Amino acid sequence: MTKAIYRNTCIILTVSIILMTLASFWVYCESMTSNVKRSIRDDGRVIVNLLNTYESEEARTDVLKTTLREYSYNRITLIRSDGEVIYDNFADTGEMDSHAKRPEVEEAINSGYGESTRQSETLGRNIYYYAYRLNDGSVLRISRAADDIYRLIIRIIPLMLVITAVILAVAFYTTKRTAKRIMKPLNELDIDAPEKGGIYEELMPFVKRIERENKLKEQNEKIRREFSANVSHELKTPLTSITGYAQMINNGMAKEEDILKFTGKIEKEAERLLLLINDIIELSNLDENGLATVEDVDLAEVARETTAALESTADKRGITIYLSANEAHVNGSRTMLGELAYNIIDNAIKYNKYGGSVTVFVGISNGKPELSVSDTGIGIPDEDKERIFERFYRVDKSHSKTVGGTGLGLSIVKHIAMRHNADINVKSELGFGTTISVVFNGPEE
Ligand code: ADP
Repeated sequence: MTKAIYRNTCIILTVSIILMTLASFWVYCESMTSNVKRSIRDDGRVIVNLLNTYESEEARTDVLKTTLREYSYNRITLIRSDGEVIYDNFADTGEMDSHAKRPEVEEAINSGYGESTRQSETLGRNIYYYAYRLNDGSVLRISRAADDIYRLIIRIIPLMLVITAVILAVAFYTTKRTAKRIMKPLNELDIDAPEKGGIYEELMPFVKRIERENKLKEQNEKIRREFSANVSHELKTPLTSITGYAQMINNGMAKEEDILKFTGKIEKEAERLLLLINDIIELSNLDENGLATVEDVDLAEVARETTAALESTADKRGITIYLSANEAHVNGSRTMLGELAYNIIDNAIKYNKYGGSVTVFVGISNGKPELSVSDTGIGIPDEDKERIFERFYRVDKSHSKTVGGTGLGLSIVKHIAMRHNADINVKSELGFGTTISVVFNGPEE
């Protein structure tokens, strides 16, 4: 991470240094060039005015040779109207060819003033030429070489490299320091108490998330501990009864006519144990695995099969099951949805009154697949409506036991509903009946 930050900083810095240097060079050269040009032009005019006060060619050459000798940083050339060079402060006039065809000279002869810029091959620099026609027709040319931008850049490159190196070294040091400061609270973070230590503002969402996870972990741990305690307790009760009855029979303490009663009780308790163990296995499977096989399931079919399976149980209690099943498809596990329907309808039978009824509805309501089960049973007190989904929670423990409940049915239902992204609603009136509906919200986005 530090490397990545450093690399990015280096790229940004280097690019900015290059761009800034180029930009300032450009501006500098532009203003230099225009200054140089202006000063040559101004100098030219002054010299022209001075030379125009002299009549003869000799007098003019003399002035240039004497008075303007010191004026050496500009090159001054005096050219006759036929192009012959009669004076040059930088070169030997004898070796110079006719200047009549030089663009600036030609222009000056024709119009009185001419200028041109050329690259000097020998110097590799730009040379600015300004030419003025004097009143006798001869031409004064004044010129100066100026460094061009590329030469300046090449000259400045070593300095730029040194500056870049210094800046990058400073960047290296500061990124390292910053990265260290960013990482320090993270390295020293106490997962159990993340808000302690030098936490800065940007880390708060991260810290909050850890805190939430910690809380959730704690809650889950609590539920797990309670569940284990409950499981041991729930298993112990039927086993104690079984052992008790078995001992009585074994010791010969049971009367002949009681033996049948006792073995019946043993069988009932053993059945309870099996139910309980099945539910526990079911729950732990749900805890660990996701949906085994997801397929298109018609809830109407599930409801038909489940009510058929529970028909005889209902009959025994004098309860009538009414089924209104319309096609309603959901994506999910057929076995789990069967289990969900079974537990809810089974409860509606178990917590009903003799001669009562159970109405099962399946269909689409408000655009969503729904399974709802209403009974004419004992109802659930308001304060228990939320809690009935907790593991081992029973409104009336002894009633649940006599009807063969384990207290796990609805926690399995809640689990399965969650896996299918479904909501459960409970409506109940004590003494009159209960409606439990499961509404499927469709696949999670
Ligand atoms: P159980 O195995 O005891 O039936 P559940 O988890 O299925 O356990 O249900 C929890 C408790 O909720 C039950 O013990 C019962 O008190 C209450 N309950 C569930 N369904 C109904 C219902 N249809 N009518 C009244 N009470 C119900």
